[in-house]
Amino acid sequence: MAETNSQRIRLGLVGIGKIARDQHLPALAADTRFELAATASRNAQLDNVPGYPDVAAMIAGHDLDAVSLCTPPDGRYEQAVTAIDAGLHVMLEKPPATTLTEIAALADRARAKGVVLFTTWHSREAAGVEPAKAWLQGKQIQAVRITWREDIRRWHPGQEWILAAGGFGVFDPGINALSIATKILPDPLLLLSGWMEVPEGRGSPLAAELKMRSGNAKVDVVFDFLQTGPQTWDIEIDTDAGTLRLGMGGSILQLPGDDEQKAPDREYPRLYARFAELVAAGESDVDIRPLQIVADAFMMAERRTTARFEF
Ligand code: NAP
Repeated sequence: MAETNSQRIRLGLVGIGKIARDQHLPALAADTRFELAATASRNAQLDNVPGYPDVAAMIAGHDLDAVSLCTPPDGRYEQAVTAIDAGLHVMLEKPPATTLTEIAALADRARAKGVVLFTTWHSREAAGVEPAKAWLQGKQIQAVRITWREDIRRWHPGQEWILAAGGFGVFDPGINALSIATKILPDPLLLLSGWMEVPEGRGSPLAAELKMRSGNAKVDVVFDFLQTGPQTWDIEIDTDAGTLRLGMGGSILQLPGDDEQKAPDREYPRLYARFAELVAAGESDVDIRPLQIVADAFMMAERRTTARFEF
């Protein structure tokens, strides 16, 4: 590993797919603390950036300080191990791993090696989330409704991996809601019951409902991956001072009696800013609570088989 104190962080970007192109590349291009030094992707390459077919080849071929993994969660463990063992700092897309044991093992390994591990939760960086958390302080939370309804064909076209085992299905977007809820609610989210619908021949669900509680508040969760028409990524929280509403994945905040507050999307610039801070401080940030709730759901929710689904 090279010194990164006053130099730019030489970063290798892994998995050049939708989120890498939509968000990671623009965020990296705008952040002078990073240099996009190389990529690792089996089928994709960027103009003017050295490209390698996998992480091991990228590390062997190029001097790097850090990697950012934008691959699907299944397979990321091995990529992260390769990077950590080479002394590189690692930033993980959400969900950070396919199992709780994988992420615990990565955290231990990063600690032993003295490198930074960052489990990112991009939705927590949405504009309304921090102010929502601040407003909720000291209020009595009475009920929470989480509704995440989106069209898999529109947002994940042809992503067969998302419905395979370890792909999370509707929990891939749903975990974003859980990442916000675990950030802004003061008490842990405890699963009481739930169901999930898995299409025949697939490994992960297209729909789920969860009944949870946080303190004394009941928390109702609806995840739907077949929503055509208007798309919904909303969290409503009833309190003794009225109802708070976070809309559009946390980017719109409406407090009781107020107009909607909106701000430009800065989720990924904020994630990379945080990663640069963590690298400078030599600190990891590993929060597994959203993944724990998904694991709870997969352990406890009733599993129903539904009709076949094709993209
Ligand atoms: P994607 O479009 O399928 O891109 C992932 C890339 O990873 C692929 O293009 C592929 O590139 C590479 N890859 C490596 N191993 C793979 C495998 N076994 N199966 C499929 N691809 C593999 O997926 P994405 O939407 O960017 O999502 C990647 C991660 O980002 C997921 O964890 C997702 O939750 C997260 N994320 C996605 C979004 C979004 O809106 N799509 C938003 C936020 C976060 P090569 O074929 O070149 O190797």
